[in-house]
Amino acid sequence: MDDLLRDFDTKNRAIKNLGAFSSTYMPKEAEEIFIKFSSINAVDSCAYPEVEEMSQYCGNFLLDMFHASSPERYQFFPTSGSSEAIFLAILLFKNYWKAYHPDSTIKPNLIIHQTSHVAFISAAKALDVELKIVEKDHESLTWNLSQLKENIDKGTIGVVCTLGATTTLVMDEVEKINAVLESISGHSDYLIPIHVDAASGGFIAPFIYPDFIWDFRLSHVKSINVSSHKYGLVYPSLGWLCVDETICDDKLKNENTYLGKSMKRLPLHFSHSASHVATQFYHFKNLGRSGYADIMQDLYRKNKLIVEGLKEFPELEMITPSHLFSIPGVIMRASNQRQDDLRSLSQYLIKLGWHLPVFNNNAVDQGASQTWAARIVIRYGLSNDLICQLLGDIKKYFSSKFY
Ligand SMILES: *Cc1c(COP(=O)(O)O)cnc(C)c1O
Repeated sequence: MDDLLRDFDTKNRAIKNLGAFSSTYMPKEAEEIFIKFSSINAVDSCAYPEVEEMSQYCGNFLLDMFHASSPERYQFFPTSGSSEAIFLAILLFKNYWKAYHPDSTIKPNLIIHQTSHVAFISAAKALDVELKIVEKDHESLTWNLSQLKENIDKGTIGVVCTLGATTTLVMDEVEKINAVLESISGHSDYLIPIHVDAASGGFIAPFIYPDFIWDFRLSHVKSINVSSHKYGLVYPSLGWLCVDETICDDKLKNENTYLGKSMKRLPLHFSHSASHVATQFYHFKNLGRSGYADIMQDLYRKNKLIVEGLKEFPELEMITPSHLFSIPGVIMRASNQRQDDLRSLSQYLIKLGWHLPVFNNNAVDQGASQTWAARIVIRYGLSNDLICQLLGDIKKYFSSKFY
């Protein structure tokens, strides 16, 4: 066997990747299911109607989690992940806007936030949609609502909110953005839709912050993406787009027949193994909502452990905001203005098998153009032992340093 294949320590490399949101751990039974279904092509619903049945179950489970009042008014589409779901959502938004503005010659625009995911930039480029980027309020990291208002015009196809930005971990206050849009759309019959990028937060907010209103309970929230391969606890790659039927463009859909019923699918439906849907189905059946809630609560306990541990190091400063809801994890920077430290800490940790991503921090840190931040994501499978080991390794680094 080639060295590249033999020497790749899959388990450790994945689990010790501190910055990734993707699932790197599944219990044994889930792994067995994942392997069992790996030779089955999920899009062949004629040959494997059971896979379609699992997919239907999963989609309805999500719609229910996101408070879709009457499921028949909503649709769901399995995707390879949130990036694909985001692409489809913008396509739907653009067509929905076009249906209301058939003669418009202005270029459609999408309003995103400074901390929105890069997937929106790629999708907007590909779909010829202009992006308007609203800045965050430096103090609170929340949306500058007056800037949002100023940016809305006749070409606006939608507004994007995030549940757990990758650079801040913060969940946007979707209700406030919804209120702004409600105050505007009183004047016309075109309703500006909100898309919620709940790639990671979609599996957290329903369990940890049940009173936080961000989903289909809000009048303008018309579509939501979520990644099963993040806090849905499935290995890459599976995501979903959940949408209100009213913004779905029927012309885009292909008709399929499944168990005698006709079913419509969006065009980007590529071959992929059934492993992911089968494993997601297994988790939903096996854990149920209460099982997910237990796991997520445990992640916040681990988060506390790591935050307490990191407080021991005066060299590090945690900048994860505590006044807003956030996904479990830590954003930190070097506290002593020696900005190279974080990068050399990261280099040191790589030698010990960890991967600590360091990124330019201007998304979090006001004004500073050259500060670096690092992200530790708390995921399922990160054990207390591993946390102790990480804290020990960071300690070794700082105590070996010669100031
Ligand atoms: C991970 C992530 C994405 C991209 O999702 P994939 O499932 O990796 O395609 C988009 N937005 C946010 C907020 C994310 O965390």
